[in-house]
Amino acid sequence: MRQLFLYPITGLYNECHDVDHAALRDAVPPTAGDPRALADVNNLWWQHVLEPEAVRAAVGMLDRLMRPGDAHPAAWEAIVAAPEKFVDEVVRAPRALVDLGAGPRAAFRALETLQLYTDIHSATIGRPFELSLQEGYVVNELSSLELVQSALVPGSNPYLPFLREFVFPVIEDSPPDIAWIVGRIKMSTMAMAMRIKEVNPSCHVSVVGHSSEYYSLNKITKYLRTNSQLFSEIDSIVLDDFDNTPRLLREALEGGDPLESVPNLMYREGDRIHQTGYVVADRALDADLRSAPPRDEYADMTAPSLSVAETRLWPAAQCYWNNCNFCAINRRYNTLPRNSFSLEHERAELMLRLAEQGTSYLWSVDEAIPPVNLGILAQELIALGSPLVWETRSKIDRNFSPEICTDLGKSGLREIRLGFESASPRVLALMGKYPEGWSLDLVEKIVSRFHAAGVSVHFPTIVGFPGETPEERRETYEFLEHLVSQYPSVTFNVNILGFDVASKLFEDYEEFGVTTLRWPTPTKYFLGNLIDWDCAETPFDYGRLDQERNEFMRQVLYPWMPASASIPPYIFYRLTETSRATMVWKSQRAATGRWREPALSADLSQEIRTSPSLVAMGPFKKSSYATEEHYACYVWQTHHAFECDGPTAGLLEFLTEPHSLAEAAQATGLTPEETGAVVRALSAIGAVVTASTDDVPVSLPVFAPAPRRWHALAGPAPAPRKRISAQRKQDLTLTLGRTSST
Ligand code: SF4
Repeated sequence: MRQLFLYPITGLYNECHDVDHAALRDAVPPTAGDPRALADVNNLWWQHVLEPEAVRAAVGMLDRLMRPGDAHPAAWEAIVAAPEKFVDEVVRAPRALVDLGAGPRAAFRALETLQLYTDIHSATIGRPFELSLQEGYVVNELSSLELVQSALVPGSNPYLPFLREFVFPVIEDSPPDIAWIVGRIKMSTMAMAMRIKEVNPSCHVSVVGHSSEYYSLNKITKYLRTNSQLFSEIDSIVLDDFDNTPRLLREALEGGDPLESVPNLMYREGDRIHQTGYVVADRALDADLRSAPPRDEYADMTAPSLSVAETRLWPAAQCYWNNCNFCAINRRYNTLPRNSFSLEHERAELMLRLAEQGTSYLWSVDEAIPPVNLGILAQELIALGSPLVWETRSKIDRNFSPEICTDLGKSGLREIRLGFESASPRVLALMGKYPEGWSLDLVEKIVSRFHAAGVSVHFPTIVGFPGETPEERRETYEFLEHLVSQYPSVTFNVNILGFDVASKLFEDYEEFGVTTLRWPTPTKYFLGNLIDWDCAETPFDYGRLDQERNEFMRQVLYPWMPASASIPPYIFYRLTETSRATMVWKSQRAATGRWREPALSADLSQEIRTSPSLVAMGPFKKSSYATEEHYACYVWQTHHAFECDGPTAGLLEFLTEPHSLAEAAQATGLTPEETGAVVRALSAIGAVVTASTDDVPVSLPVFAPAPRRWHALAGPAPAPRKRISAQRKQDLTLTLGRTSST
């Protein structure tokens, strides 16, 4: 029987899980005949979205949409003022993401650029659909009714033109007998499945690999059994994640055997939907191992993404705690035994083998692993002399003794993720997070042990639990802030509670004070895991929580990030976590002991220059009464926007060519000390850099006409070079003092 795997169109690099620029750049239109012909469809789609002509088209439309006098994001002004600069940044960004060792600022430069582009794409050529880096076009994929009604309708499925050109011919040329929808059911894969059914109505369409970190169809089998809309287009769902069931299903289909002989399966027979029993899986040690060979073209990078492997160290184990009321992670694993942690030596040998094959980093995606087993694994790794840097997950547990923490540090562990959730004892008790004996002191003790061992603790945190008060949330923020100030290796991310329909919280929602449940669609069509909810006594306000958590994360974790950035800090964190960059950054910092991101500053003893990534727009008057000329500037390297006066623009223009500070002082007419103060302020936001070391000058800074919201003065830039009079130096300093983000 002919098989075809249907891969979805989703976020860039599969939400940064598979960051490989060469695969994106070299993706070619699929050809019929190969079961995995569509494996690269997501890369091909993003390749088209990101091609320079598409970026130019979006910017051209943006230019026509922006009206003089309207306030626009500063970045948009810089984009229309110097479109080729932006095109250059967009073209470079996907490759920059591969270089995990380049640090958080480089990742921010690339991700913010791409976020700006997706925003512009959404406002122009993508309209009315919103494009997001995380999931591609934002469409309703929570309802089977919506998917079935929209997937093949032009104007409802934004991917349809692409699918018609590149994917449907593969289906038409060689119609499959078995089609596997890979991953969560998406608009793109539903369209492929429906086209297959049009071409070959007897094709068996099955869904596999739908479980991701927090999502799984296994959590909603109760509703799927009534989802006849979904089963009008698909024939079965494989209810475990493992290789065995798809093989048994294929053999049954090939042999014409009844599907009731296949375990772990939900399937349609006539008008009825059936589910077979679960069979506990026996899983090989490397069942979840994902690694890729290195590429020569990334040889210039310290830690290319392909140097990271991913696995579950205990592929047949679930979370050992399994008691958190909000969490339904273990519901993904209906066919796994619980708490089967053993064979640490074999796991250590697997890690050593990976290192010998060229893998430098390992990210383990296990749920919580008990401290004792981690301790034994650490000893085994030390005994084997493993050089692998690794990350793992557990939970706050008194068994993290000083010895275990020290051994884990020695074994190469550089990041450990410990679900923290809240600092409020009342909220934690409601969550069912900890056994008796938990305290904030214990948390701090464990953090200090890991910090001393060179291991960064990362705390996933939850806000917005039913009944949580603003004061309790503040306790959490204050405790996290305290930890980061005392132990700078600590990081965290703040999640807003996702109300999971497979959790105890959902089951007993009244006990938690929840008064409203809102389904996005009738349950007979429901394909999601999360629903909306509310609490009459302490109303749930997602927008406010989102703003609050992003501001908090930016201030404590990313103080260098401009407040005006388009990419929310929460998303920045998430994408750099899924690319595994966070582990690489931590291993670099553990090696130097410098855990905090250093401030930017040009080396004034060397030649300095204006950042090649700068766009300066002007001159303009801020109002019709103003007499001063101003310039609006945008630095692509840091995404800082600032305004400056004419003399400062003159200095930036003078430094278009590398000069010493003394030469710059001569040009400005200020003393070297005074010029140094101005240059330092400019270098702190990346506008001036050390000529020899910072940024590759692939192009020159751009001096462009004034942004359209201001009153342009006569003549476009470049700015005239000016001497700064002594009387004006105070004004200049003040102007630069306001160089905060706009
Ligand atoms: S410790 Fe983590 S994985 Fe385990 S139940 Fe709690 S939240 Fe879920």
